Amino acid sequence: MTGIPDLLARRAAEQKRIRMMLDSMRAEEEANIKGGEDAVAWVKQELCIGCDQCTIVCDDEAIELYDTPLASPIMEVEVNRKAKILRDECTGCKLCVLGCPTDAIIMIDR
Ligand code: SF4
Ligand code: SF4
Repeated sequence: MTGIPDLLARRAAEQKRIRMMLDSMRAEEEANIKGGEDAVAWVKQELCIGCDQCTIVCDDEAIELYDTPLASPIMEVEVNRKAKILRDECTGCKLCVLGCPTDAIIMIDR
């Protein structure tokens, strides 16, 4: 019969295998994101939750947050913010794409 130590060991091995697979997929995904001087970041407004992560990772001060009315009239919130890219400042480094938790930022041709 399988004991608890065996199950824990199998679980740890499986966690490691899944982590390696996800890391590999992420690395491939990152490598395929276009970047550089011919690209510029773009925010999909409907996915942006105004969390401010992108402005933290952007070293070029190319992202601003602005207030916008909430789409739903039945909810009242004090702040509803969205990010926007300052195209001239953006260097195409892709850091914001990797830092956004909701995949709201994509890279497009400049
Ligand atoms: S990190 Fe993504 S979700 Fe957060 S403010 Fe920037 S674009 Fe919006
Ligand atoms: S691609 Fe780089 S420079 Fe452009 S907005 Fe994102 S983090 Fe800033």
